[in-house]
Amino acid sequence: MDIAKMTAVELGRKIKTKEISVREAVEAVFDRIKSVEGEYNCYVTLCEEQALKKAEEIQKKIDDGTLTGPLAGVPVAIKDNMCTEGVLTTCSSKILYNFKPTFSSEAVLNLEKAGAIIIGKTNMDEFAMGSTTETSAYGVTRNPWNTEHVPGGSSGGSCAAVAAGEAFMALGSDTGGSIRQPSSFCGVTGIKPTYGTVSRYGLVAYASSLDQIGPVGKDVADCAALLEVIAGHDPKDSTSLDRKDLDFSKSIEEKKLLGMKFGVPKEFLAKGLDPEVKDAFMETLKVLTSQGAIVEFFSVETMEYMIPAYYIIASAEASSNLERFDGVKYGYRAAEYEGLHDMYKKTRTEGFGEEVKRRIMLGSFVLSSGYYDAYYLKALRTKALIKQEFDRAFDKYDVILAPAAPYTAPKIGESLKDPLAMYLGDIYTVAVNLCGLPGITVPCGQDKAGMPIGIQMIGNCFGEHKILRAAAAYE
Ligand code: GLN
Repeated sequence: MDIAKMTAVELGRKIKTKEISVREAVEAVFDRIKSVEGEYNCYVTLCEEQALKKAEEIQKKIDDGTLTGPLAGVPVAIKDNMCTEGVLTTCSSKILYNFKPTFSSEAVLNLEKAGAIIIGKTNMDEFAMGSTTETSAYGVTRNPWNTEHVPGGSSGGSCAAVAAGEAFMALGSDTGGSIRQPSSFCGVTGIKPTYGTVSRYGLVAYASSLDQIGPVGKDVADCAALLEVIAGHDPKDSTSLDRKDLDFSKSIEEKKLLGMKFGVPKEFLAKGLDPEVKDAFMETLKVLTSQGAIVEFFSVETMEYMIPAYYIIASAEASSNLERFDGVKYGYRAAEYEGLHDMYKKTRTEGFGEEVKRRIMLGSFVLSSGYYDAYYLKALRTKALIKQEFDRAFDKYDVILAPAAPYTAPKIGESLKDPLAMYLGDIYTVAVNLCGLPGITVPCGQDKAGMPIGIQMIGNCFGEHKILRAAAAYE
């Protein structure tokens, strides 16, 4: 029995029936980590000792019937931008190299309540800014399908860990595609939930109006189970929703595509899309129609404004959110300085990486007087227009289909040479965040070099049940 190969739900079931002990599950995943982590670098921090201790505690609670959920005893990895009490939370940045939070994020607490066991913190692009996990201050994560390639980003560590069997499931965060794009590159499944579904309390903010925590798993069932555990109303997050429809695992019981209406934005298949990715996408459409789904093409007129609107809004919010890292309250402080201002300046100059500084500068620029109206306000108006377009589309369709990314995982070292070109690679994912919509990536093929390709299913707000049902049926 190769425990590391099991899905989270399978493992949870076997733990419940006592075929596997919680300790065995934790040991199995650390055995796997020890044998391949040197090659992939999925983690910034590992918590083996704590996990083994926790295993005993959780086992008792399962045995005495206190813990009965599907993920009790299942090991989980957490992206390193979610606070974990007493455990390093670096956001893959030098500026937080020694930051140990005094509290845990709500999503992590919910996981712990369900009996899941935290095994470590996964690598990411610094402060979740990037699409390759190469902007991490702690080294690049390698794609387990081919170590010359990136895993995608920014949740590259979480997706690579699940793909490599170094985690049964993981949490990621998605501000402009950071769960859906690396899921595509690593051949795993990942969900960006409707904005407000998972509490952002304790998630280190990148762009607060876009950030959302979500599950990464080996299949749709794992993602549904994980989302069900982390979702819920939290008064500590003022944007948290009080939804009553959180029974996500239920929605995949009925694996039916018959009569479901799918819309495909024509413009998404035009220039810039790699032909092999397009072929895999078109094949998927055929599979859906053969199962009784209706697939139609429609036009999205705002496509060319999605990336500019996203990068203006995200950078504006980032520049404000990252003001708190000043060498006073947390993390790194420059060793030598003259006076307070010099301390701020040197700390931030030395503590932040290039990509983060680029965003802070861009964000400060678009928010500064004289430019605020011309850029930031205009971006907000554009966002409203994009949302109107999606609203109209959802009057007609249950689910919108899109590639997760225009290409498969690029080689390490290729993307950062041209940051603007890298930003354009987010074209299929950012609108979902601008509009607060849910989206799931499921694997749909491979290119000739054997790198995975994913398809994205996008739902209307609160439409998780529909996209889960469609994804499970397709899977
Ligand atoms: N690649 C996008 C960016 O760099 C998305 C990142 C994310 O979703 N966190 O902003």
